[in-house]
Amino acid sequence: MQTNGVPSPRPAPRPDVMNQGLAILGSTGSIGVQTLEVAECLGDQVRVVALAANSNVEALASQVRRFRPLAVALRDPAAAGRLRQEVGSLDVAVWEGDEGMERVATHPEAQLVVSAMVGAAGLLPTLSAIRAGKHVALANKETLVAAGAIVTGEAARAGVRLLPVDSEHSALFQCLVGEPVGAVERLILTASGGALRHLSPAQLSKVTVADVLAHPTWNMGDKLTVDCATLMNKGLEILEAQWLFGIALDRISVVIHHQSIVHSLVEFVDGSAKAQLSPPDMRLPIQYALTYPGRAPADWPRLDLAGVGSLTFEEPDFARFPCLELALDAGRRGGTAPAVLSAADEVAVQAFLEGRLAFTEIPRILHQTLTAHTVADSPELAEILEADAWARALAASLIA
Ligand code: MG
Repeated sequence: MQTNGVPSPRPAPRPDVMNQGLAILGSTGSIGVQTLEVAECLGDQVRVVALAANSNVEALASQVRRFRPLAVALRDPAAAGRLRQEVGSLDVAVWEGDEGMERVATHPEAQLVVSAMVGAAGLLPTLSAIRAGKHVALANKETLVAAGAIVTGEAARAGVRLLPVDSEHSALFQCLVGEPVGAVERLILTASGGALRHLSPAQLSKVTVADVLAHPTWNMGDKLTVDCATLMNKGLEILEAQWLFGIALDRISVVIHHQSIVHSLVEFVDGSAKAQLSPPDMRLPIQYALTYPGRAPADWPRLDLAGVGSLTFEEPDFARFPCLELALDAGRRGGTAPAVLSAADEVAVQAFLEGRLAFTEIPRILHQTLTAHTVADSPELAEILEADAWARALAASLIA
């Protein structure tokens, strides 16, 4: 197995685990907020040096007061102007726009950048962080889905680690520690199945935004929760895993596991399988990415197996949830296809959240967009960005 730097057999240069400078892209989102919570508990081990968000002035202002970063950025320039007034008396630089995101991603005091922006917007700042020699804790799966070859190639060249934050990938990463390269036969990702797993096709066509957002086990952002319900999230995770762990798509499978206790498994060439288990709580994978290769004590609830009672596993239903197959198709086609799928998905999910598209129409929009796309093989970054913009425009017009 080629590891693409994760976990690297030749450790990348890494500063002391103590007092590691941390920058967070997407600090006001679900992962960003939980990362700050973890950082606070880790005390001296991490120092929050820079934060970036999209437009949430109030949330970022309160983070500035609490964590006293050296710099912050808001992507929305008008919001950045309001933030300057809010925190003007404090000693913090306030940047704006895409340039502001880049500056946070490459802040000289940061050794580790948490990439937790939603969607393809995370790609460019994450690449900038890598090029600037930062280790990256990756929560933004679209970055690897859209540009996996480029991102892993640049990370290897820069000698930086890509540390998974997604719970499934963190589980795989933890199972792989200490295992010889080449010993892996198969990766098995678990999927909760989302809030709609029991519904018939007729019921699925009528579900509301509120139905979808009531996720049974995980608490996360809206886009991700919808992706979980369509199983697109699992599809994107397979595409992400192939790049993170350098393993072919046909050696990655998915099993539905409602309890979200077993976070994923690695099966080895001798038939042994290792799994990582814990209660569903994103703070654990976040903390592991922050403390890797070490572990730090934490006081969140422990796994109570007898309390859980039973763990169940079943095959995913590809017929009721066509997004999973669409993702696999895009992965097999390769090139710009995964970027197109991911971009179209962002547009379709947003339309669903705004009540402009039925839940069961999401896969139709994705299928039509993918079918209309002429795939570019081994694309440059510019071609990926172009394909992304093309897919957004087409998906939007199909919805309208
Ligand atoms: Mg996940």
